[in-house]
Amino acid sequence: MNIFSEEHQIIQETVRDFAVEKLDKVAEKMDKEDYFPLELFREIGELGLLGPTIHPDYEGAGADYITQGIILEELSRISPAFALSVGAHSNLCLDNIFRNANEIQRQKYVPDLVTGKKVGCLALTEPNSGSDAMGLKTTAVEEGDFYILSGSKTFITNAPIGDIALIYAKTNPSAGGKGVTAFIMPMNTKGVTTGKPMEKMGMRGSLTGEIFLEDVAIPKENILGQVNNGRSVAMSGLAIERAVLAAISLGISKTALDISLKYSSERHQFGKPINEFQLIKEKIANMYTETQASHFLVYWALSEIETNHNANKESCASIMHASEKSTIHALDAIQILGGYGYMKEYKIEKFARDAKLLEIGAGTTEVRKIIIARELIKEIK
Ligand SMILES: Cc1cc2nc3c(=O)[nH]c(=O)nc-3n(C[C@H](O)[C@H](O)[C@H](O)COP(=O)(O)OP(=O)(O)OC[C@H]3O[C@@H](n4cnc5c(N)ncnc54)[C@H](O)[C@@H]3O)c2cc1C
Repeated sequence: MNIFSEEHQIIQETVRDFAVEKLDKVAEKMDKEDYFPLELFREIGELGLLGPTIHPDYEGAGADYITQGIILEELSRISPAFALSVGAHSNLCLDNIFRNANEIQRQKYVPDLVTGKKVGCLALTEPNSGSDAMGLKTTAVEEGDFYILSGSKTFITNAPIGDIALIYAKTNPSAGGKGVTAFIMPMNTKGVTTGKPMEKMGMRGSLTGEIFLEDVAIPKENILGQVNNGRSVAMSGLAIERAVLAAISLGISKTALDISLKYSSERHQFGKPINEFQLIKEKIANMYTETQASHFLVYWALSEIETNHNANKESCASIMHASEKSTIHALDAIQILGGYGYMKEYKIEKFARDAKLLEIGAGTTEVRKIIIARELIKEIK
């Protein structure tokens, strides 16, 4: 069953060609040196792949969230780290800004993000607020035509190279989640600094960093949505973010299966290809079945998101399954390759390190389970 339209298939081929011909050449350097290929990022911007869901009036492709998923899946088959940075830019930052911005903000910020002239990030997480995102401590105090932001953010994808941040701060600290406001913050604003990229287990080359805010004056015109309504802005993007990023896990599973199939047909032990051993066959059969399940879950959740941006249980189910299985698949592929799988040269160990992130970022597996159960229970009441 092919769930993709002709337009989807054209995008899929375009991204696949780019990933195989260009991204593959730098994937190892990205992992080894924590190097982000900004030139390739700008190139896919020129190909129109950074703003798939943005209206053509703002330079976007005017396509759907399935298209965004296809782009991330195909990039992830070669470099999950590059896909993560693109996802953080295109969806967490750009799509979120586009959906919530007023006309002046759209004109000012969206086109440069769509073309890749500017790099975007989303800054929600803080050292003491992760899963409890609305427990954030960064403050924004009103002063004339500005809000003065103070605090810090951590684990922010693209922060070290970011030009524009969608950032959350408390404008009414005593009101909890009802006192949060979203701002569009140019990263070159006085008082904004970023630390060095954080050293990570995987997803290397996707630069992750802290953001420090020392009396940062952001004009009121940069408020995204309404004052004290940042929670709605954040929540409006969370289900979309999960549905979209699940495609990165799917790409990892597909690569794990490809590598396993190829290697097990070429490697001989006891006088025959190892794919003739039943215990290897079992791994391959499980990998195939679970990857197909991820595929249909991912694109089903993305099609649900298209009509309902709050499709929380669908997006949580999709990313929960795809991410947990992709870690298992990458580890099983290492097992199929034996000692060679443990060597960097065979590339699969990197995918195992990358895969784990999707069980943590965009809300952890545990939080996703809570959301799925909560919604189902609510529906029967
Ligand atoms: C590489 C990377 C990139 C990231 N990129 C971004 C980004 O671009 N922007 C951004 O804002 N954030 C980003 N994050 C942050 C990410 O969203 C958080 O790490 C995630 O939400 C978890 O928060 P935490 O790390 O503080 O863990 P915690 O919330 O401290 O959780 C620790 C453990 O407790 C569990 N736990 C917490 N609450 C519950 C509960 N109620 N019930 C059961 N178990 C619970 C968790 O599941 C987890 O196992 C990124 C993180 C990483 C690692």
